[in-house]
Amino acid sequence: MAKSPRIAIIGAGLGGIPAAAMLQAREQNVTIYEQAPEFTRLGAGINLGPNIMKIMREIGIEEKLRHIGIEPESWASREWNTGKMQFEFVMKGALGRDYGAPYLTIHRGDFHAVLVETIPPETIQFGKRLIGMDEKETFVELSFDDGTKAEAEVVIGADGINSMVRDILLGPEEPTYTGFVAHRSIFPRALIKAPVLHDFTKWWSDDSHEADDDRHMIVYYLDRSREEIYIVSGVPDHNWPGGTSYVEADLDEMISVFDGFHDDLMQVLYACPSATKWPLFDRKPLPLWSEGRVVLLGDACHPMKPHLGQGAAMAAEDAVILVRCLEHYGYEDLTSAFALYETSRKARTSDVQVHSYNNQWMRHETNPDWVFGYDAINQELGIEAGVAGG
Ligand code: FAD
Repeated sequence: MAKSPRIAIIGAGLGGIPAAAMLQAREQNVTIYEQAPEFTRLGAGINLGPNIMKIMREIGIEEKLRHIGIEPESWASREWNTGKMQFEFVMKGALGRDYGAPYLTIHRGDFHAVLVETIPPETIQFGKRLIGMDEKETFVELSFDDGTKAEAEVVIGADGINSMVRDILLGPEEPTYTGFVAHRSIFPRALIKAPVLHDFTKWWSDDSHEADDDRHMIVYYLDRSREEIYIVSGVPDHNWPGGTSYVEADLDEMISVFDGFHDDLMQVLYACPSATKWPLFDRKPLPLWSEGRVVLLGDACHPMKPHLGQGAAMAAEDAVILVRCLEHYGYEDLTSAFALYETSRKARTSDVQVHSYNNQWMRHETNPDWVFGYDAINQELGIEAGVAGG
């Protein structure tokens, strides 16, 4: 292999960009191929726990994110009808002390925009939707739907839940609809005609609900001025017509799903001017994470329900560990580097997938050490670290 291999990252999302930033910090030759013609400001919020914030510190954007997002005072888990506090987990200040980094909530578009600033603009080639890969003896030939081709010695598939890289490695397989959808909306807090008591509240349905009738709504701020509020649900929808993209939500239907919930939540929902509805998908564990010169990370590899707020964190942790494994073997022995990466990451990401699916995180007293305490920058490679119960 050439001294400085050409590294292609497919997808400029929440895992692809940290991977590029980490590689460029090690003076590697990286190009990201992104299908979108440009970035748009996707209307959603995102949670950044201490484990991903340590990575943001490493790539130099912790302070910027802290300035834009908000460090919630606490996570409040409230009972659906009485509004009783089931569990309150103090976050502001405490998580910095306990885990070495804060917990932030932030607009996903703002987060992505700050991430993009960590790499030179010319790193990303837009309008490049990967449609084919052909592994030659010493490189991989990439084909894009605009008719162009590119070559790389290493290919990182960071192309999300509908990953073409995954499809090419393993054969096409649609992700599985979980039977649940998520309503999402961002709107001015001023529209709500009642006090919003907590910076971050998760409203849980009755414990006695059957698992497939479980429903929740999360309400949190996106910025330290507390002007923008974000709501995101997780509710069963057995009538989803199919397809992987979102639709406009019917607000009456969204409100009716929460019929009988406490007035503190209903006032938020009544104020919501519009929302989108997203189907939630996952996949069975993959039989392999890499083949030859190609390796997967993030949702391409282990998509999950969003109920732990850890999908982006898993993608970024993958990116850090993958780069460390490549450094460890010197970019020449990809087989060993990719095997070390998979060994280091599989147990943790599988556990996070399972806990996301079960949706009990912080419902009652929860010890988050195994999730928040993980430190991808310093974690010993090759051991199954940061796992549930570990
Ligand atoms: P993505 O960020 O999806 O990036 C994939 C990129 O690849 C995209 O830019 C895409 O355009 C590009 N791409 C796709 N196909 C191709 C192709 N063929 N060629 C070229 N480019 C391509 N995570 C959290 O950590 N905290 C949260 O609070 C949170 N909330 C969530 C709420 C909801 C409702 C949902 C659905 C998800 C949530 N997540 C959350 C999950 C998180 O968004 C994902 O896990 C994360 O974005 C995965 O990163 P990724 O890089 O693997 O994929």
